[in-house]
Amino acid sequence: MRYHREFEIAYVGLKNGVHTYNYEIGKPFFELIGAEAEDLEAVNVQATVTLDKHPDFLALKFDINGSVDVACDRCGEIFTLPLWDEFDLIVKLRDHTMEDEDETEDDGDIVFLSKNETVIDLSEWIYEFILLSIPMQRIHPDDAEGNTTCNKDNLALLDKMSQQQAEEDEEAAKEQQKNNIWKGLDAFKNNNNQN
Ligand SMILES: [Zn+2]
Repeated sequence: MRYHREFEIAYVGLKNGVHTYNYEIGKPFFELIGAEAEDLEAVNVQATVTLDKHPDFLALKFDINGSVDVACDRCGEIFTLPLWDEFDLIVKLRDHTMEDEDETEDDGDIVFLSKNETVIDLSEWIYEFILLSIPMQRIHPDDAEGNTTCNKDNLALLDKMSQQQAEEDEEAAKEQQKNNIWKGLDAFKNNNNQN
């Protein structure tokens, strides 16, 4: 639990102005906050959070830098995917958390916090922003000459497998066609017998 604690900022006691927090994020982080990250073989991320405290709001900036090890979508081999991204978040402080005020705009970059809350927990945002910084398509980058750096043996094997699959599919389609013809013939025979 101590690990989690590091991410709690008692903002009330902070002076107005800029405060910086650095976090080394590895796989244990995901386990500790109870998040699933089975597709991430390794996590090696530096999250730098800059908190600019104002009387009525906190302006947060999350810098995500580092890498994750993931399986390539094309060749299946694990590779290291570099990450760098930054995200801004405004935390507005309100006297109460009533949602029925006119300020209930559902803006992803603005969250509201009751002034009764004395700490903010950065762990969930760090988690979210790390996930957002990972591209949807995870593919080995091309080298300087523009050639793929995918595992060539895996690609050749996949190619062979998909060719085999295509042949099998074709075979199955032919079989299906033959069955349909027989079924048609059976129906024809049955009809004739009934007459
Ligand atoms: Zn690859």
